[in-house]
Amino acid sequence: MAGVWPGDTRCVVTLGFDIDGVSSWIGRDPSFVHRPGIISMAEYGPKRGVPRILRLLDDYDIKASFYIPGYVAETHEDMVREIVRKGHEVAHHGYMHEPLGDVPLDQEIEILEKTIDILERLTGEKPKGYRAPQFDSSVNTISLLAQHDFVYDTSMHDADVPYIHDIEGKKLVEVPVKWALDDFGYFAYVPQAGVRSAMQDPDSVFESYAAEFDGAYKYGTCMTMTLHPQVSGRPSRLSSLERLIRYARSHPNVEFMRGIDIAEYWLSR
Ligand SMILES: [Zn+2]
Repeated sequence: MAGVWPGDTRCVVTLGFDIDGVSSWIGRDPSFVHRPGIISMAEYGPKRGVPRILRLLDDYDIKASFYIPGYVAETHEDMVREIVRKGHEVAHHGYMHEPLGDVPLDQEIEILEKTIDILERLTGEKPKGYRAPQFDSSVNTISLLAQHDFVYDTSMHDADVPYIHDIEGKKLVEVPVKWALDDFGYFAYVPQAGVRSAMQDPDSVFESYAAEFDGAYKYGTCMTMTLHPQVSGRPSRLSSLERLIRYARSHPNVEFMRGIDIAEYWLSR
């Protein structure tokens, strides 16, 4: 069935990994830097989760997008280079994982440009994709992304397929997200930090992902995953993702695409 996607593609799955590492915890409360228990849990993402995820993506020959805060990139430079070497996308995810709702304009520009410089130094090119930490953009974010030549944003919840922001003649693609496809709400449990998700079992999370896939397949939409290596990089929990990949691949005409590939296709339609 032809729809909004290329050729016979019926629906698209995009795997986005937010390598928040310690940034989301230090960004939440700078005193966490003195709490090795929290820091060690966060560092599991870049140290253990990412290598395991890269092997999984190799096994299934899937290219993905990695949204990386500047602080995490500059403290894990070899990890960033390995992600690029394997053909995945490296995209912008703040500096210290700053939700932007209350951030003044000059500070938001500083955060944006600082991480652009870090990622360009490590990858050889400016990032083209952006995901707001906690999906929490400011009223200025979309305009700033267009001014800084980003190709797409993936932070908004108001659609099932991509769309285009038109900002004074500049086009920025939106690849929409949803909390139901974010692993944090299913798995994250850090009581001393006030994070108490339901700590669900991987089977029930797979069932949730599969139901989302069924909807995406029926309506020909874009299934945008938001996965955190410190959460989904654990062996048992990665099985939810691996089962989703197998389930999606058991259907004809499903494509896995990086965020940038979706955005460039959308601009070319
Ligand atoms: Zn994040």
